[in-house]
Amino acid sequence: MCLFCKIIKGEIPNKTVLEDEQFLAFEDINPQAKIHVLIIPKIHVDSFNEISSELMKDITSFIQKVAATLGVKEKGYRLITNIGQDGGQEVKHIHFHLLAGEQLGALV
Ligand code: AMP
Repeated sequence: MCLFCKIIKGEIPNKTVLEDEQFLAFEDINPQAKIHVLIIPKIHVDSFNEISSELMKDITSFIQKVAATLGVKEKGYRLITNIGQDGGQEVKHIHFHLLAGEQLGALV
């Protein structure tokens, strides 16, 4: 079982920000910004390459709720999903990094 599936099952503790039947948002253990939250579906999907458009639609609404819960919707935030080896994906369970709480440096 993958690391994030263990977190979903409660076998590894997490600091939950928001949760519903389909998704979990929790604090990244090694934050890269003042606010760094990971958002994952509870069903295992390897990466963005495999996510269905239906699940993508639902996770979009959930991510927007997470941003509202964190109070960062107005000031802004960055959303990242790493895909595969060249994309720097370490955990093979799709996750969106939500980074916020400060002015982030330009990436592109
Ligand atoms: P990625 O490199 O896109 O696969 O991101 C994996 C992320 O998972 C990294 O930012 C890690 O800091 C984070 N991470 C790894 N283990 C844990 C954990 N137990 N709880 C919270 N975040 C974790």
